[in-house]
Amino acid sequence: MSDIIHLLPDNVANQIAAGEVIQRPASCLKELVENALDASANNIRILVKDGGRTLLQVIDNGKGMSPTDARMAFERHATSKISQAADLFQLRTMGFRGEALASICAVAHVEVNTRRPEDEVGTHLEIAGSKVITQDVTQCPVGTNIRVKNLFYNVPARRKFLKTDQTEMRNILTEYHRIVLVNPQVQFTLVNNDEIISELPSSSTKQRIEAIFGHTSKPFTAQVVDIQANTELVNIYGFIGKPEMATKNSQQFFFVNGRFMRHPYFHKAITTAYSGLLSPDHNPSYFIYFDIQPDAIDVNIHPTKTEIKFADEQAIFQILLAAVREALGKFNITPSLDFTSETHIEIPQISPQATPIAMPRLQVNPAYNPFKQSAPHKTQTQHWEKLYSQPIADTTASSEEPVLFHFPAIDQSIPIMQWQSKYIIVPSSQGLMMVHPHRAHMAILYKEMLALLSQHKGVSQQLLFPEVIELSPEDLHTLQALQDDLSAIGFGLDQLSPNAYTITSIPMQLGQTNPCETLLQVIHQVQDTGSTATQQWHEAMALALADKMAIPMGKALSDAEMHDLLTRLHQNHPAQYLSNGQTIFIILTPDEIQRRF
Ligand code: ADP
Ligand code: MG
Repeated sequence: MSDIIHLLPDNVANQIAAGEVIQRPASCLKELVENALDASANNIRILVKDGGRTLLQVIDNGKGMSPTDARMAFERHATSKISQAADLFQLRTMGFRGEALASICAVAHVEVNTRRPEDEVGTHLEIAGSKVITQDVTQCPVGTNIRVKNLFYNVPARRKFLKTDQTEMRNILTEYHRIVLVNPQVQFTLVNNDEIISELPSSSTKQRIEAIFGHTSKPFTAQVVDIQANTELVNIYGFIGKPEMATKNSQQFFFVNGRFMRHPYFHKAITTAYSGLLSPDHNPSYFIYFDIQPDAIDVNIHPTKTEIKFADEQAIFQILLAAVREALGKFNITPSLDFTSETHIEIPQISPQATPIAMPRLQVNPAYNPFKQSAPHKTQTQHWEKLYSQPIADTTASSEEPVLFHFPAIDQSIPIMQWQSKYIIVPSSQGLMMVHPHRAHMAILYKEMLALLSQHKGVSQQLLFPEVIELSPEDLHTLQALQDDLSAIGFGLDQLSPNAYTITSIPMQLGQTNPCETLLQVIHQVQDTGSTATQQWHEAMALALADKMAIPMGKALSDAEMHDLLTRLHQNHPAQYLSNGQTIFIILTPDEIQRRF
């Protein structure tokens, strides 16, 4: 019998790796704009066509690139931002992995014009599918002008995952807001299908926030109060909304060292400070900026993640809580604020000696581009070309995803381990596998929910305390369209008023999850499909529910739980990707491992 394992061609390997960094036009745009910021640009123009699928263009007036650097920039691991591991702990740039441009040029047609201030002429470069097509000299302004055309033109399965232009544009706007809010000194212009939709002059942070969210009758300054806390450990500044300005959908932003981040724990500090001041379904707005030593945070190395760990989260929680309380109190917003009560917390005076900053916990992703290899034997590539080079029209018709690896059966006697309470590491004949437990569980539950939806076999659990959900007109419309499907899987819904429903029961599998949140996630996921096809709705619903039900990342699993999870993964969903394109497991092949030694 002939051998069946072979190496992936470079362009396929790059496409696979691109899946991690570039999931949709918005993530591509984020990478491009962050590069412009890292190049010290103070004027950035962004042009988008058709939700980014036809064109994403970023024009900056930054420091540009030399001809050699322009070419190098598109190689994997090519970065000017760090050169040794120690630099990771002093990061002040947005990028450092050197993989964004390599990933983008693997899955799009890319064209760049770039010139450094010290050069007479600039460089023009065209790349498609990781191959340089042209490089020549050109006349162009100082800075970089990069055009990304036909995103995912050669990865039909990915292109198929793209949502309607409006949805992709909404994602782009979300990303845009996250960037412009923390770079107020930079001038930005955003053009969508030849229409200028945002023009932001260089300004203060407050003016920038106002320019984006201040379109109400009341002046912005009347809606927010400043917060400020300067300590040895961290500097915090920003704005919080006055309680009377709170709405159901408030704007909530955290930034750290120039990056947007999510931080549920710090969010809790803010809601704690507001407790008693808001009606239950209202949320405070906040725009809060943290400045901290780079080595005291763990910029989660996964390129698209926004979760960031702090070495001293508890102390910062207290500082933030105290700062928000103080701001609310100082402006006499809360006469009920009782500084003598035991709930009051002093801003801790933290000296470096008293609170040694823990070792930085940078998680360098060892699974990074596991497939990169030198060119394999020609005949071995044919199989892969079939997977990736079909014309787009062909595959939109088929619902097949490219299957690169099938998750194998795992013998109960094989030792497996969980790394950092996250990834499960499993040796197998194909290589060393790393499994994302949340997504693995999601994959299994996704299949189960899909089956329930098609067979109408859901089982309900009654809620002890029925919850009321109020809906926007758009959400209401979707909910009503989904009502049969929702009741089929176990949601009990009674209309309470024209725009409110009581949730009386939820699918049994949902356990302790928040019913309103879950229902909204289902509704929004369905809206994101931009489709009216039942099958797509079912897939979106199943995915949203599976996401809510699946074991969270960071949960330590017992050996038996891990074996059970992997066995079910093999039996129910051996494919490597979720239906939204997320990777469930990766395999470090023996060749790859050998190459690294
Ligand atoms: P990273 O940002 O992680 O270094 P990228 O792949 O995004 O990796 O970019 C690779 C390199 O290309 C950067 O380190 C930088 O030197 C250069 N580069 C990319 N975009 C620009 C730009 N707009 N202006 C100047 N240099 C750039
Ligand atoms: Mg970058």
